[in-house]
Amino acid sequence: MSDYITLGPTPSDEPCAQVGEELYAQKARAECRRFIKVLRDTFGTEPSGAYLQTKGFPHDYGTYYEVVCHFNPDVPDSIDYAFRLEREAPTEWPDDPGYNGSTPLCPECGDELEMGTSVQLFDFSASDGYRCHACNLLFAHDLTVLARMEG
Ligand SMILES: [Zn+2]
Repeated sequence: MSDYITLGPTPSDEPCAQVGEELYAQKARAECRRFIKVLRDTFGTEPSGAYLQTKGFPHDYGTYYEVVCHFNPDVPDSIDYAFRLEREAPTEWPDDPGYNGSTPLCPECGDELEMGTSVQLFDFSASDGYRCHACNLLFAHDLTVLARMEG
């Protein structure tokens, strides 16, 4: 059997997407993914019996998303990990630009854009902008569409 604790959608002192706002689900899931990455980088990957997940909770106005840490009540390491996260999770995004919430969202679908550093196609280089995997679009820094890639 498994139980879980809730950790919120973002570090506790940081703003987060609000239920009901435009593209809430995409924004919230992207924030949760980023928060899980920060937690794994800070505390290490989950030990056996524990795992981090973006969980949707029913809400009067739609589904609310936040990060949860599942643990197995029979596995002490997984309990320790979950409660250490609850006590010690960072309250702010780290300074690293990969985490700080500045990654823009795709104007087409609302998914999180990938920065040019990891884009290998064409001569698209570190400073060139962003890419949306879902839409196969490349964007300049002002989020104008540079190119549509052939799927
Ligand atoms: Zn997109």
